[in-house]
Amino acid sequence: MRSFVFPQLGKEPIKNEALKFPNLGWVKWRQSRPIPEGFEVKQARIVRKASGYFVMLSLQLKVEVPNPMPHGYPRGLDLGFDKFVATSDGKEINRPKFLKALQRKLKLLQRRLKNKQKGSNNRYKLNQKIARLHQRISDTRKDWHFKLAHHLCDEAGMVFVEELNFVSWQRGMLSIASADAGFGQFVKILKWVCWKTDTYFAKVDKNGTSQTCPNCGNHTGKKSLDVRVHQCHQCGYLTTRDVAAAQEIRNRGLTDLEFHSRYASKPEGIKRCDPAHFQCARERAPRQALGHSVWENVCGLDATGSIGNNTLVGTVRNRKLAS
Ligand SMILES: [Zn+2]
Repeated sequence: MRSFVFPQLGKEPIKNEALKFPNLGWVKWRQSRPIPEGFEVKQARIVRKASGYFVMLSLQLKVEVPNPMPHGYPRGLDLGFDKFVATSDGKEINRPKFLKALQRKLKLLQRRLKNKQKGSNNRYKLNQKIARLHQRISDTRKDWHFKLAHHLCDEAGMVFVEELNFVSWQRGMLSIASADAGFGQFVKILKWVCWKTDTYFAKVDKNGTSQTCPNCGNHTGKKSLDVRVHQCHQCGYLTTRDVAAAQEIRNRGLTDLEFHSRYASKPEGIKRCDPAHFQCARERAPRQALGHSVWENVCGLDATGSIGNNTLVGTVRNRKLAS
């Protein structure tokens, strides 16, 4: 069992570095962050990971948060194997390489496992080490997904992605690459980050996004996967295949909104998207974070999210690979 829930906690369950569980009583813990003022602790989930036991608290505050409304700059995203994500602004983000390095490490440890006697202490210790590394890989990936999602929401009022079935991708011949990239998790995180940053999020029809010219709407026909550029014979529009797909996804998202707003009454305060607006948002100066543009934070050093040294994603300490 990986986790279980205490659906209810008593009154004031946190006191002096201890947490009170029903039946169990007071349990000592390390509180990683303070409970924000006004929130009530509702539930506790205990999770077992390779590095120890964790408790996740669900908090409640009595306010209603409205869902983000469509507004501002639209951005389409195309997820893929060649590039992790391509945006309608013409940016392409590679799949991170740090995961590959960690996976090489993992393979090495797993190879060592067969030399260890079953039931031996050394085998147990090695298994622990492997479990820790698995956790490390998934934590690193998740952290990168969050950073990337924040970056993609930056300056965008609307984000559109394709409606894809990631589960079927994971069964296909690219299964390992797909599982490693964690597209499903990324879309989930992206949706959550959009909600948090007041960015409208919507999925669009995936069919034939790489067969339509985003510039003139001309049907360019089916391309095989090795054709990496989009060139339109009708209007001469030339860009990479993934960027063209992302732009088409953006166009579809905007068309869907037009469609909806025609049939539903338009809520107050929504600005219709004006194509001329895309240009001005693109030319705005990039926002700065930690003295670097967010773009550098995401894309520098093969998109490790680190700044100027070899530390892995976002860690303050220089964590060495467990050997
Ligand atoms: Zn065209």
